[in-house]
Amino acid sequence: MNLIFLGPPGAGKGTQAQRLMRDYGVIQISTGDMLRSHIRQKTELGAIAERYIHDGNLVPDDVIIEMIKKELDYSDLENGYLLDGFPRTIGQAVILDKMLSERGDRLDGVLVLDVPKDELVKRLSGRRVCRKTGKSFHIIYNPPTEADNINPDDLYQRDDDKEETVLRRLNIYENETKPLIDYYKNKKVAFKIDGTGKLVDVYKRIQNVLDTLLKTENLKAN
Ligand code: AMP
Repeated sequence: MNLIFLGPPGAGKGTQAQRLMRDYGVIQISTGDMLRSHIRQKTELGAIAERYIHDGNLVPDDVIIEMIKKELDYSDLENGYLLDGFPRTIGQAVILDKMLSERGDRLDGVLVLDVPKDELVKRLSGRRVCRKTGKSFHIIYNPPTEADNINPDDLYQRDDDKEETVLRRLNIYENETKPLIDYYKNKKVAFKIDGTGKLVDVYKRIQNVLDTLLKTENLKAN
């Protein structure tokens, strides 16, 4: 199953993607995680991306496309993939369409996580990321449990989760990324999912969509 996770920053895409990897075997391809890893490893690409990310702006398309191409070419994607944070502009979506058709891949669904803006600001300002594992938590809604085995000293607030940058990222989402919902609605692959409430409830809603998609796929195969 090849999927795209669409939704504003703070909608919970990364957190839900972790569960989808576990239960459906899809590989999460997160452009944000990949860029942060480049910055940590001080690569050339990381040096280009750092200022854009710090300021809450989008990294130029050519940098992102190059990175995604490599990831799609070199990963083991037998059970499909979940694109998280890509595409973010209509331009990127058009290039993705071309890449998918060249690879002979079908896009099965675009999961659109819907969360109101005031809730997003609350979520992003309380988000903390583990330096060692890259896993995200929230100081109130989703604190690490004993099972997570996290040292509190390893938790940090992302630079771009500071309030001023958050507002800029949400604006960019409205202007650049939200039009993708109609783009994929026109292709009849968009599924809107209520992203509010408990993580487990949101996950159940996502599962309902995926289970329906899988049933339809099986019917097509038989
Ligand atoms: P995320 O972790 O998805 O919130 O991404 C963090 C930051 O990485 C974004 O605010 C952008 O600066 C950059 N970024 C991630 N994905 C993309 C993309 N597809 N296009 C441009 N910039 C991106």
